[in-house]
Amino acid sequence: MPRALITGITGQDGLYLGELLVAKGYEVFGLVRGQSNPKVAVVERVVPGVMLLEGDLTDLSSLIGAVEISQPDEVYNLGAISFVGLSWKQAELTGETTGMGVLRLLEALRIAGGNDMSRVRFYQASSSEMFGKVRETPQRETTPFHPRSPYGVAKTFGHYLTVNYRESYGAFACSGLLFNHESPRRGIEFVTRKITRAVARISLGLQDSVTLGNLESRRDWGFAGDYVEAMWRMLQQESPDDYVVATGVTHSIREFLDAAFGRVGISDWSELVRQDPRFFRPAEVDVLVGDASKAREELGWEPKVGFEELIAMMVDSDLALESDAAAREGLLVPPGRVEVPPSRTTAARARS
Ligand code: GDP
Repeated sequence: MPRALITGITGQDGLYLGELLVAKGYEVFGLVRGQSNPKVAVVERVVPGVMLLEGDLTDLSSLIGAVEISQPDEVYNLGAISFVGLSWKQAELTGETTGMGVLRLLEALRIAGGNDMSRVRFYQASSSEMFGKVRETPQRETTPFHPRSPYGVAKTFGHYLTVNYRESYGAFACSGLLFNHESPRRGIEFVTRKITRAVARISLGLQDSVTLGNLESRRDWGFAGDYVEAMWRMLQQESPDDYVVATGVTHSIREFLDAAFGRVGISDWSELVRQDPRFFRPAEVDVLVGDASKAREELGWEPKVGFEELIAMMVDSDLALESDAAAREGLLVPPGRVEVPPSRTTAARARS
């Protein structure tokens, strides 16, 4: 039975990857941060049989301990302070976790292996944010980096370290340059989930409007469940390498709003969306779109879920969550699931 250690198992990607590896017959170990982490119950439900280990990417000895206990064949470093917006406000913490955390984990593998890094395969979650102020479109493995946030800078450090440990110690270390990937499990601070949750709440009459920042920025959004498959495939290759993982299609926040509101039958959302400078960023990554030809050719990977399908999945999930929560609080009678009462939609629009 192969053994995998996942950092960041409580996050969106960690949950999908844990599920995938269990289905493939792996014994899965997950690093969990902090005392009484509230997400432990979710991980145990989604990843049956998972072994959770306490540890932190800012604490080298805890990482060595986790490696010694789990004796992994594969290590997936998905742990990070992952929200770009927060990275300006907590730049040092982002550097320590998202950047230096990669160094500590690679060092833990080297030290625990007695300087021999050949028996473990390592995946680093790199990011399209490293391309930042893009030098070419679409972005590929050879595109130079120009990160635009402390998060992007920290991820760039982690990427180069991964390459360096491959070249210095012969480590089987791969870096996946993943473009934005979303799902119903995405955190509500990210614009996609912020929108789908708000759309659900507006259509149920629980909220009047949503306040966003820059509606013109464009992203290449894929489905997280598809992207973890690419991570696993990278570690099954004969030799380690770096791969862009993307859909190759870019959409604006406005187009995302069209599709999300369209899902609940609202075609004109102009009165339901407000803008606030609070949600604009000090430096913006305007357009990201990836060229995943290498992943397609060498890994045989391609995305299965398209833009509209992804948004429908997220809106439907938020409708179910919000109507259940509202029913529990006695705000919606009778409790509905997924079905949107048309009168609520009309009421929400009339009020705003
Ligand atoms: P990122 O690509 O990892 O930064 O993912 P986000 O979902 O946080 O942001 C994607 C884009 O949406 C960025 O260009 C943001 O500036 C833009 N955006 C516009 N309004 C908002 C908002 O209210 N929240 C967030 N998170 N992003 C927003």
